[in-house]
Amino acid sequence: MRKLIACVTLICSSAYAVDGAAPAPLRGYTPEHSTAEVAWEKKFQAIPEADHIRENMRRLSARPHHVGSPYDKDNAEWMLAQLKSFGLDAQIEQFEALFPTPKSRKLELLRPDGTKFIAKIEEPAIKIDPTSNQKDEQLPTYNAYSRDGDETAPLVYVNYGAPADYDVLDSMGISVKGAIVIARYGQTWRGIKPKVAGQHGAVGCLIYSDPKDDGYAVGGTYPDGPMRPADGVQRGSVMDMPIYPGDPQSPGFGAKAGPESAAKLIPLDKVETITKIPVMPISYADATPLLESLGGETVPEAWRGGLPITYRTGPSVAKVHLALAFNWDRKPLYDVVARIPGSTMADQWVIRGNHHDGWVNGAGDPLSGASAELEEAHALGDLLKQGWKPQRTILYCFWDGEEPALLGSTEWVEFHAAELSQHAVAYFNSDGNGRGYFRAEGSHSLENFIDSVTKDIVDPETKMPVWKRERLVSVSRATPDLRAEARSRPDTRMPALGSGSDYTAFIHHLGIASVNLGYGGEDQANGQYHSIYDDFYHYTHYSDTDFSYGRALAQTAGTMMMRLADADVLPFQFADLADTIRGYAGEVKRLADTMRAQTKERNTQIADGTYAALADPRKKRVIPAVEPLPPYFNFAPLDQATDDLTAAASDYDKAFAAHGASGATAVNPQLIQSERVFLDPAGLPYRPWFQNMMYAPGFYTGYGVKTLPAIRETIEQKEWTAVDPLIARTAAAIEREAALLKAAARTLNAAP
Ligand SMILES: [Zn+2]
Repeated sequence: MRKLIACVTLICSSAYAVDGAAPAPLRGYTPEHSTAEVAWEKKFQAIPEADHIRENMRRLSARPHHVGSPYDKDNAEWMLAQLKSFGLDAQIEQFEALFPTPKSRKLELLRPDGTKFIAKIEEPAIKIDPTSNQKDEQLPTYNAYSRDGDETAPLVYVNYGAPADYDVLDSMGISVKGAIVIARYGQTWRGIKPKVAGQHGAVGCLIYSDPKDDGYAVGGTYPDGPMRPADGVQRGSVMDMPIYPGDPQSPGFGAKAGPESAAKLIPLDKVETITKIPVMPISYADATPLLESLGGETVPEAWRGGLPITYRTGPSVAKVHLALAFNWDRKPLYDVVARIPGSTMADQWVIRGNHHDGWVNGAGDPLSGASAELEEAHALGDLLKQGWKPQRTILYCFWDGEEPALLGSTEWVEFHAAELSQHAVAYFNSDGNGRGYFRAEGSHSLENFIDSVTKDIVDPETKMPVWKRERLVSVSRATPDLRAEARSRPDTRMPALGSGSDYTAFIHHLGIASVNLGYGGEDQANGQYHSIYDDFYHYTHYSDTDFSYGRALAQTAGTMMMRLADADVLPFQFADLADTIRGYAGEVKRLADTMRAQTKERNTQIADGTYAALADPRKKRVIPAVEPLPPYFNFAPLDQATDDLTAAASDYDKAFAAHGASGATAVNPQLIQSERVFLDPAGLPYRPWFQNMMYAPGFYTGYGVKTLPAIRETIEQKEWTAVDPLIARTAAAIEREAALLKAAARTLNAAP
């Protein structure tokens, strides 16, 4: 049956060619090679089956499978056996990392009248959900890499706990010094909340799931609907990953079990990425009595959640007692890696990955992606048996330990850094996958390539090309001033990568061009996120229930792997990159101007008494201090570099148009370096592990990306004297790219 489908598709595509409507050859391919490649891709796309993906998920999500659990290892061994049964050369690469688990947890509210409320901090099993009762193997609700602590203090509500929320509290004269703060999940990455709270003097931090964000205000609650029930809790890491991800004790090297690695580990008390204050996630059932205890003013409207209470800032008269202790153990990590050797350019590697560990049963996150990736590997195994031979080497990776701190991928990348720097062409990541629109974020040298693939994949619901659906969605969502461009720009604009999944070490530490991709957006999702309810029952009732988008993910990512691995000349394209970087340069210049104008206006309002006039004399209001205006910065090196890059990209694309398809493969090793040259070995301010000068996760946003991060964040943090040298270092990285593209154009032009 499978073969028949492939034949039918082939007949269709050859009929298409006979009509004289043959499409242009794929970028980086000769016309003959392009025709052959398209035929192989069609064969490949017909192989993945939704039922296989469903079965993979059912098997892998049958028991809790967090780092260090028996089923985590069991899953790794099962995937290894599967990959081998597909005919692939696969192995488990084992590493080791610090992974704390709860020893004891206590949260109580001590009221002045002597009564107390003891928080449940427990997610109940749900009868209809068959895996929710696996209590013996479930990790309790907690935030990983919170430090131990025992604090009793008044409570203050800090909204989402972002830096700007503390400015609002400051203006109301409310301090969190010596207090325990309660923040709601959302907006910032969770690890930012205790970090900023600690910087403002708080002694503890609670993070709760407000029903307005992922509970009953959004949709029916589980099991009647997909959203978070009253006792549901979002587990998650709070490690300071914007400093560096991976094993906290081994930044910069891949930690294996044994004395050699052990001798180099940072002692636990010297690790800077563990939180400075204890932090714990709670449900809104547990949060409600705490929030009700708050005194003080009613919060601003934007701070109000969905609970039927009056949200107040605090502090509370009642005291909160938070006591946490953890087992600070090192645990094994099982990365499963399959290798398909390349036939003609084996020393160029195209890499695919998705993590396999979950917080509990982890069906949506990560198995919806990992189950599709496994089926993708299965399909490529079948294709190899039919005679397909990729030119480049392909690696299929299934990472362990993503949830705590991107542990498995980071240790692997650090361990193989030297070879990866030399050989890696690109990395394609996925994670949780759902029903809906295609989305991709990543390196802009691959923007055109991503579009080229998604034009050839059919959306399971609308039957239109995935690319077309994505484009129409992006046009509809664009602001009016950007809509015309969204409609007319040949390539769809792709957002840049911050952090939040396993691409982080690839792009930010080693400068390997990376893309994160997946489908989603149609279901009310995430009410089960990082809870015991993210399981097979939930996924098969409320998400991609027929796994047709799992199949689409396998088709999409697998086609990307094939098309990149088989190309004669790597289809990187640099006009998009130059255009995007020029846009970023404009943004950081406007940022400085905007901050100057805002500071000037605020100083004027302070001087002419506006703040005093607006303050309600019956309420405490703090008038901000006059601030010096931001100085003018020297952006000339950045302007010069973006001009040089635009010119070099145009030279390269002209040379490529003239010679690219003629098999000028000598240019490939140069192109592999095109993301590497963005690395600056000194790294970003305060975090040398992050070396890519174009993109980084924000120091104060966590997952959210900061582009041209050294310049942008230094301006945002008002570190004025640091700005000009960082403009120069960023411009130098862009100039290295321009020089590389000029050299690559010369290579192409010299080709016969
Ligand atoms: Zn995940």
